[in-house]
This record gives sequence, structure tokens and C-alpha cells, in this order.
Amino acid sequence: MASKLYSIFSLKCPTCHRGDLFPTPSFSFRQPFAQYTHCPACGQRYFPEPGFYYGAMFISYIGSGFFCLGVVMLLHWVFGWSMIASFAALVAIVAVLFVWWFRVARSAYLNLVYGFKPDVAAAVDSGQLNVTPPTTVKST
Ligand SMILES: [Zn+2]
Repeated sequence: MASKLYSIFSLKCPTCHRGDLFPTPSFSFRQPFAQYTHCPACGQRYFPEPGFYYGAMFISYIGSGFFCLGVVMLLHWVFGWSMIASFAALVAIVAVLFVWWFRVARSAYLNLVYGFKPDVAAAVDSGQLNVTPPTTVKST
């Protein structure tokens, strides 16, 4: 389980935990929706079928829904902020986190399908694999 959480939140390949899922850092906001076609380290495909990440939208929706509720309830009821101030703070927080959350949802969805393979990670570490450099896919 810790292995899955590491892969999900570090945005690493679910199979080898070495290659990145995305070509740019989440908080750089450059090419926010570009994703590698496959793992640059082990070659694991990141797009196993057309429309694969449709399910990631539901993870994103459910997670962000509860997050937004939690933030507004915390600011309004616990800290006593006005409703307007609470929602303004929420909008600012979400504006900063939305790219990261989009990526975490995709990473979580990919981790539902693929698991860590220690033999693949060992092969990556020893340099036995010869993987062609991935191209990027711009998702919307
Ligand atoms: Zn990999």
C-alpha cells in the first residue's frame, strides 16, 4: 500500500517507480496536461486503451468535491470566516492545486490497473532496458 501511495503522489510509473508520468513539474504550470505516452525508464504504456483516463475524472471529481467541502466548512465553521471569504480562499487554493490534482487522479487511476514489479525496477536500475524516449500526449 505504501508503494502505491508513493507512486500516486510522486507521479511516478506504477510499474517501476522510476520514470515520471509527466514531462513537467506540476507547479511549473508549463504544459499542464501533457503526459508521456510510456514510461521513460521501463517502457510501461501510460495509455493502454483509448479513453482510458475517463475513470480518472471520477476520482478527481469525488476527491475535489470532498476537499472543497472540507475547506469551506473548516474556514467558515472552525475559523469563523464569512462565506464570501471562505469561497474566495477556496478558489485561490484550487487555482494553485488543480494541475497537481488532475495529475494525482490520473496517477491513482493508472495505479488501479498496474502494480509495482520489483524485477522491472531492478532491470531499470541495472540499465538492462533499452526504452525509446517517449513522446507526449496533450490531454484535455
Ligand atoms: Zn516505468
